[in-house]
Amino acid sequence: MDDIVIIGGGIIGTATAYFLTKEGRKVKIIEQDPTYKKASFPLSLGGFRRQFFQKENILLGKYAREFIFQVPELLKTKKNPKPTASVVANGYLFLFGSDHASEQYEALKNHKQCEAGTKNIKGSELKEKFPYVNDQGIETVTYTDDKKEGWIDPYLFHSAIKSKAIEQGAQFIKGEIKNISEINSNIIICAVGYNTNNLLKDVPVVPQKHTVFRVNCPKHIPEMPLTSDFTTGVYWRPEGKEYLAGSPISTFDANDLEPDWEHFEEFVWPALAKRVPIFEKLKLTGGWAGYYDCNKLDNNAVIGKHPKYKNLYLASGFTGRGLMQAPGVGRALTELIITGSYQSIDLSALSVNRVLENKKTPEPYVL
Ligand SMILES: Cc1cc2nc3c(=O)[nH]c(=O)nc-3n(C[C@H](O)[C@H](O)[C@H](O)COP(=O)(O)OP(=O)(O)OC[C@H]3O[C@@H](n4cnc5c(N)ncnc54)[C@H](O)[C@@H]3O)c2cc1C
Repeated sequence: MDDIVIIGGGIIGTATAYFLTKEGRKVKIIEQDPTYKKASFPLSLGGFRRQFFQKENILLGKYAREFIFQVPELLKTKKNPKPTASVVANGYLFLFGSDHASEQYEALKNHKQCEAGTKNIKGSELKEKFPYVNDQGIETVTYTDDKKEGWIDPYLFHSAIKSKAIEQGAQFIKGEIKNISEINSNIIICAVGYNTNNLLKDVPVVPQKHTVFRVNCPKHIPEMPLTSDFTTGVYWRPEGKEYLAGSPISTFDANDLEPDWEHFEEFVWPALAKRVPIFEKLKLTGGWAGYYDCNKLDNNAVIGKHPKYKNLYLASGFTGRGLMQAPGVGRALTELIITGSYQSIDLSALSVNRVLENKKTPEPYVL
């Protein structure tokens, strides 16, 4: 019998394997597609932030930054002596209209309690700090400008963690698990992302297709933060000499990962040009679509032991934040498995039980 088997070698499964093998545990990871063509993590925007509503998510965001900045030392291996996550720490900028302002004032109390280090200004002060952003309809603004938030290269990040986990003894095996009962192991961890509901029918985490557009603009502002305009739901960030822009229009039950191109002219471009006038001149140069692992109950993660099984743990339902939460979640699952309780960040509010009992813990700040 195996010690620990992880189903899914994406970012959550691999980060969990890293922390478990660091503690000397014997871990096998079963991954259906080692090229990760449809996995969510390589298709993500790579953002890491602490600007959330829920305290658990703020704290996981703080740890993400701590871990990411230590990648060169923590993940050094013989095969990969200079690991990098290719960090761009431009910060995040969140823009709220009157509809979302009161919710954000509540969120700011949690930021303060968790020492998130975010800054808040009035909409009328926006142009002093970000002169290229139109302040029309903006009541309140939260941002960071001290390298606490930004984005990474998701593929490099995953490769670095995987390489270290392998050096520590993790064994990656190609295979598709169709039923949990196929596995004979002391402990099983289900980390299959958007595929969760196919293996665990009582966990409502399903694929939600999101499109990202790549655009070129004659004027480039390389220092622009990852910006989210909550009056429209559109978000964007620089990518090299271009920009990436995410559409808030998503699809459940999508048959393929073809981008929803029609949303660009209809919705995304007008929203971008309204908020950042230089974007009126931009040109669409590409794009892609990927699946969020969406927890239909409350858009928040499901983490912990499944009460209906004697040895099954799971971590899923991260929507647009699984990449940044992977280090904190991998560490938390390791603590839970080894000591029986969370030691660093208490994630019991995200338990599997809450989902089975239909108790919502919503996280409103989904990008
Ligand atoms: C467009 C887009 C933008 C995003 N932007 C961000 C962002 O800026 N920041 C952020 O933190 N997150 C972002 N995300 C979310 C993030 O990518 C996901 O939450 C995260 O990748 C989930 O990690 P995972 O390991 O659970 O799932 P995945 O990355 O999907 O990995 C799951 C793995 O399990 C394997 N698998 C599935 N079923 C089986 C099976 N039955 N047997 C064996 N293997 C199986 C899959 O092949 C896959 O490799 C974004 C996602 C998308 C789509």
